[in-house]
Amino acid sequence: MITKKNVVLLGPPGAGKGTLSEVLLKEEKLAHVSTGDIFRSEIGKGTELGKLAKSYMDSGKLVPDEVVADMVAAKLLSAECADGFLLDGFPRTIRQAELLEKALDQAGKKLDAVVLFDAPEELLIQRLTARLTCRKCGASFNKIFAKPKVEGVCDHCGGELYQRSDDSLETAKNRLAVYREQTFPLIEYYTGKSLLKKIDSSLPKAEGYAALRAILS
Ligand code: AMP
Repeated sequence: MITKKNVVLLGPPGAGKGTLSEVLLKEEKLAHVSTGDIFRSEIGKGTELGKLAKSYMDSGKLVPDEVVADMVAAKLLSAECADGFLLDGFPRTIRQAELLEKALDQAGKKLDAVVLFDAPEELLIQRLTARLTCRKCGASFNKIFAKPKVEGVCDHCGGELYQRSDDSLETAKNRLAVYREQTFPLIEYYTGKSLLKKIDSSLPKAEGYAALRAILS
């Protein structure tokens, strides 16, 4: 049983936030709030929000703070988040963290933990550029480290696997640079609030997952 249920997953793209969330969500009744997944779904539906997000995502830039924060604030108020939530990919700037605090206050909630996923940059680039994503359920695979059972097909739902356009080498490098400049300062921010816990995300999946559960227990 985990006791920490209002959780932020912090870390660079490719660090395994989505992968370990997937495993945890099979065992725990938590809402998975992945801002990247929400944007990809909006893009798929062709909404105005999707069009706006795409113009930033294609080059690896961040969608404006207020847009993302409003979207997350609405989620936090929804019944889906009543028993706890994993924020995956949010906040990504100090401003977003401040807006999150406000939204949590308004929803009468507080954070229990911020889990930092840490890995060397070469490994992140290797993982991102070999990543395959399911078009249907969003699950992640990897051409090198975690191949699907059948090439091009999702093990979980049979959906088609594709390479995200922002997982190209050039955009992956931009996204890591954006992480260093804009997201890295959150480590100090949440250390100051005594919320930060660290996971070595170069560990194999099972060990990483055990470490995550230990932190949340
Ligand atoms: P992700 O799936 O978390 O790697 O996010 C993919 C892209 O969506 C990012 O590179 C950003 O362009 C956008 N995005 C996701 N979350 C945020 C956020 N919290 N703030 C700004 N942009 C975001």
